[in-house]
Order: sequence, then structure tokens, then C-alpha cells
Amino acid sequence: MQTVEYLVVGAGMSGLGFTAWLRAEAAARGRPLPDVLVLEADDAPGGYCKTVVKDGFTWDYSGHFFHFKHKDIEAWLRARMDGEVRTVAKHSTIRVAGTDVDFPFQKNIHQLPHELFLTCLHDLYFRDEDSPDATAGSFKEMLYKRFGRGIAELFLVPYNQKLYATDLDRLDQDAMGRFFPHADIADIVRNMRAPDNASYNATFTYPAHGAIEYVRALLREVPDDQLALGERLIGVDLRRQVAWTTKRELGFKRLVSSAPLPRLLAACGVEHDTSAFTWNKVLVFNLGFDRKGKEGLHWMYFPDPSTVFYRVGWYDNILGGDRMSLYVEIGADKDAELDVELMRARVLEDLAREGIIAGHQLVAEHSVVLDPAYVHITRASMAEHARVKRTLEAAGVYSVGRYGGWTYCSIEDNLVETRALARTFGPLL
Ligand SMILES: Cc1cc2nc3c(=O)[nH]c(=O)nc-3n(C[C@H](O)[C@H](O)[C@H](O)COP(=O)(O)OP(=O)(O)OC[C@H]3O[C@@H](n4cnc5c(N)ncnc54)[C@H](O)[C@@H]3O)c2cc1C
Repeated sequence: MQTVEYLVVGAGMSGLGFTAWLRAEAAARGRPLPDVLVLEADDAPGGYCKTVVKDGFTWDYSGHFFHFKHKDIEAWLRARMDGEVRTVAKHSTIRVAGTDVDFPFQKNIHQLPHELFLTCLHDLYFRDEDSPDATAGSFKEMLYKRFGRGIAELFLVPYNQKLYATDLDRLDQDAMGRFFPHADIADIVRNMRAPDNASYNATFTYPAHGAIEYVRALLREVPDDQLALGERLIGVDLRRQVAWTTKRELGFKRLVSSAPLPRLLAACGVEHDTSAFTWNKVLVFNLGFDRKGKEGLHWMYFPDPSTVFYRVGWYDNILGGDRMSLYVEIGADKDAELDVELMRARVLEDLAREGIIAGHQLVAEHSVVLDPAYVHITRASMAEHARVKRTLEAAGVYSVGRYGGWTYCSIEDNLVETRALARTFGPLL
């Protein structure tokens, strides 16, 4: 039986990141390069960070835009990239009751029609700290308590309900972590005279050839013979440290997996509460049209439940180009049956109703379902994750990444996490 020291599952940002960092760690310590094998079920690397190029349009699996907090990580990636990386000052809006309000909504209620503005301001000031509309400690309660009924019910609740495809009472109050734009009354009132819509990605970067450029940067550090594409992990014997793939049996000393946690647990035969792990899936349509549409806008949020999508973004306003290039995202329950043709027809109908297309001809398209897309971070999922993590790690198995760690994060977070893990193995190299 073939044996490897480090068996890595998944060649997305996390799996490739871990492999690259581990090699860097060995090099920094003057140690031999580690014996690693990366298994990737798909025929191509990249995971959700893939880019599709079709008929002159460049699309990601879903809009992937970047704002690196760790400048050393960004510089490390850039040093391994050839093409241009654009830096863009974000312009995103929210369509509420026929009006376009700048993001973040809670800081721009003064842009609403007068009556709605008064409702939001009144409810913000007199917000009920006891929040009778939501379960204590839930994401929904946090929204009502911090912002009052008006802001919650006009945007924050319907939008997030559409995105997560679940009742927000189920989610933990910190389900979005640092990605939730917090604002207090002083910020909101100050913003009425001196706009400061700073958020974690007020400016963002984007490679001219798509998000896959970050994957290519990592691939430069991963030798071809350490990457096995089209090979899926199907089972693991934790006690014997043996893994089964669709092609072979492999012994390992450590296994680092970025596969979705519930699937890894099933493969390892670890008993767990399956009801603790729920998620949404996202159907993404990438659409190319014959001519330009709105200019200057990067993406737009749609909280209205009667509009099928929750977000639409314009690649052509980021990359340049004289033809409108859109991504359109639809949230759905993990068990929902998605009729892609039917959804496509609804998307085109709703794009026309919202005035995004007006007689435009669709000339190119692509669609993909991201499943899982947004995991539901609940008290139960956090407790179960902490418990199974201990069981797995005791057997040399590390579950990382957005879906392995059952979390809400960016590709930068994937790289920060896997670098830290690679460093803990440094003394063993
Ligand atoms: C709608 C949406 C928008 C996003 N926007 C942004 C953004 O703007 N900026 C940003 O930084 N991040 C964004 N993200 C997050 C980003 O996509 C993730 O953080 C990142 O791609 C996760 O990488 P990963 O390697 O952890 O997981 P994945 O990309 O899911 O990679 C896991 C890999 O494991 C493989 N795999 C799974 N099971 C097995 C198995 N049994 N055997 C072998 N291989 C297996 C999969 O095929 C996959 O290639 C977004 C995510 C979503 C869903």
C-alpha cells in the first residue's frame, strides 16, 4: 500500500494553500520537502475559486472579489502572478421599495423615501432591546436589537433570509462574523452629512483574468506529481490511518481535508448529529449580453422576496468592456430541487422588471450550483464542530477551509488558517 506523510483532500484555496505553506515551512527550516499528495475529486483545481472564460466573457463561479488584510499574504500571491490585478473603489447599492440606497443599508437610510426614512429612524431610536420578534441570541434578534424594526424588516431580515434560505432565528448572532457591517446610531446619523460607507471591502482587488489567478499562484508551489485530479476520497479508517479513494488505498500520517465537514465525517465513520449541519446552496447564472447596461455599479442587493435573485454583479464595470457581463445569485434550501431552465427564465424576466436589461440580447451564458454555499452557523453547529474536531485531530485528521471548518470566510482566511496549521507541523518536518 502506498503511504504519504500528508494526504490533502481538495485542491481549492485551502488544500493548495496548505501544501504551499508546508513546503515553504520546510524550506525555511532547511528540511527536506514534505511528502504530500493532494486529492481533488474534480478534473480541475480551484474549488469555488474557478474562472470560466466563454465567448470573450470572464466569469468566476460566483463573484469573487478580494480585500486582503494581511499584506504579506497578498504580496506572496502577487509575486507568483503574471497578469494585472485591478484595484477598484466599490460602488454597491440596495434596491428597496423602488429606490437604490448605497451599501451598507443601515448607514444610508436617509436616502430612502421620506416616510420610510422616518420609520427607520424612529424604530432605530426607540428600538426594543428585548426584541420580542426573535429568539434570544439569534442573528434575527441581533438585527432587531441593534437596528430596530424598520431597518430590520426593510432590508436586513428579508435579504439575509433570501440568501441563507432559512429562518434567521436559527442562526447564531455572530453567524456572519466580521463580514457583517456594524454601525451604531452615531455612525448612522453622522453618515447623513458626511458619508463614510467604509466596510471590510470598501476597495477591492480583482485579477484581470479572474479569481483563478490566485489558484494558479498557489499551483506554482505545488509539483504536478503531488496533485491527483479526478480522484475522490471515499473512506477513512481513523484507527489505522488508511484512506480509500476512487482509485486506490493510501496510508497517511496526517490528513488535511477541505471537503465539507459532514461529508468528511461520513467518510471517516465519525458519529455526529447530522441535524446540526445545515446550509444553503446558491445557483449562479453568468450572463453575457450584446451591449452595455448600467455603468459604474459593481453589485446590487435585492431583498424583495418577489425577485428571484438576491444579488446581481457587473463584471464589465470591474474589468472594462463594452458588453454587459453579469453574475446573478439565487439562494435555495439545501434540499430544494432547482429547475435551472425555469430559474433562468425567471432571472431574465426579473432582470427586465428591475430595469437591468432593456432589449439586451443574451449572447453567452454559464450556470453552476454551489452546494454548500453558505453554511448555517448555529449554536448546535458550533458545538458539534468543536466536538468532532477534537475526535478528528486525535487521529491526525484536520478539517479546514470554508466548508471543512463550517464557517463564513474569504480566501484570505483560508490562507491564514492553512499557514497557521502548516506552521504547527514545522517542528515535525
Ligand atoms: C457565493 C459565494 C461568494 C463568495 N465570494 C467571495 C469573495 O468575493 N471573496 C473571497 O475571498 N471569498 C469568497 N467566497 C468564499 C470562497 O469561495 C471560499 O473561501 C474558498 O473558495 C474556499 O476554498 P476551500 O478550498 O476551503 O473550499 P472549496 O473551494 O470548496 O474547495 C474544496 C475542494 O475539495 C474538493 N473535494 C470535496 N470533497 C472531496 C473528496 N471527497 N475528495 C477529493 N476532493 C474533494 C472539491 O472538489 C473542491 O475542489 C465566496 C463563496 C461563495 C459561496
